Amino acid sequence: MVETRLIDGKAFAEGLRKRVASDVTAFHAATGVTPGLAVVLVGEDPASAVYVRNKGKQTVEAGMASIEHKLPATTTQAELLALIAALNAEKDVHGILVQLPLPGHIDAQAVLATIDPAKDVDGFHVVNAGRLAVGLDALVPCTPLGCVMLLKDRLGSLSGLEAVVVGRSNIVGKPLAQLLLREDCTVTIAHSRTRDLPEVCRRADILIGAVGRPEMIRGAWIKPGATVIDVGINRVDKPGGGTRLVGDVAFDEAQGIAGAITPVPGGVGPMTIACLLQNTLTAARRQLGA
Ligand code: NDP
Repeated sequence: MVETRLIDGKAFAEGLRKRVASDVTAFHAATGVTPGLAVVLVGEDPASAVYVRNKGKQTVEAGMASIEHKLPATTTQAELLALIAALNAEKDVHGILVQLPLPGHIDAQAVLATIDPAKDVDGFHVVNAGRLAVGLDALVPCTPLGCVMLLKDRLGSLSGLEAVVVGRSNIVGKPLAQLLLREDCTVTIAHSRTRDLPEVCRRADILIGAVGRPEMIRGAWIKPGATVIDVGINRVDKPGGGTRLVGDVAFDEAQGIAGAITPVPGGVGPMTIACLLQNTLTAARRQLGA
């Protein structure tokens, strides 16, 4: 039986936010510039409104400027693209984030393609995805970046390790696989058509759940001693009423098998905004050549 360590993403994210804040102070002292992050929210999705509020608060706490644009759900695509073009041209804005999902009448790909890649702090623009894929400096999607930071903190070098990423979305699975490849892992990307998923998962020294299905990855799928990163955030009913959050990995079953695992909540989740702040500072530095 293995002793399973908890990977405390909340504590790590707090430390990272403090490091970013101190780097922002040094950047401001050297350049006189305050990094600015513009967040665009279209419509009234309550979960998105909470994310945007948290992003704004943590941006200000890190010493950066938060510029929020809240637009009604009736905003046309042309109006949104015009706002992005204006933000692209605004010199006090170093990062632009358009909160997803967008209302159905707006083509999200067209919106993401309009953001200046140099200000694309979510890392979703095809130029940044392409630069990551060919090994050039890129703005990297925040959640995958956070996962790799937690892994390196826990394991040191990832070189040569077998990594299995379950999920192939453009925002988590694919960029995470690219980052792990960059760390010299041997990477397998699994998805809904993968044959014998439990067997594939059992190969993994590093097992990532990025699926969005509550506790789909069972304890018996985990190689003893593996490091498990659970990206999934799923709200499920509690017996007796109410709801709770669970990940894509059966957390209780992983105890005694995994070497280490991120909890949900408190694992990967808090890393996302911390990495967004880091990306905003990175974008500002590159724009100023600082
Ligand atoms: P998507 O729905 O875009 O992608 C899910 C992926 O899982 C797809 O590639 C899909 O395969 C795969 N999948 C679905 N069912 C199965 C199955 N039965 N077996 C194997 N693979 C399967 O989700 P996201 O990548 O956007 O998000 C994944 C999870 O991560 C969600 O729970 C989300 O809430 C969470 N998340 C958390 C973040 C954070 O911590 N801050 C940020 C972003 C996401 P296929 O391509 O074949 O359909």
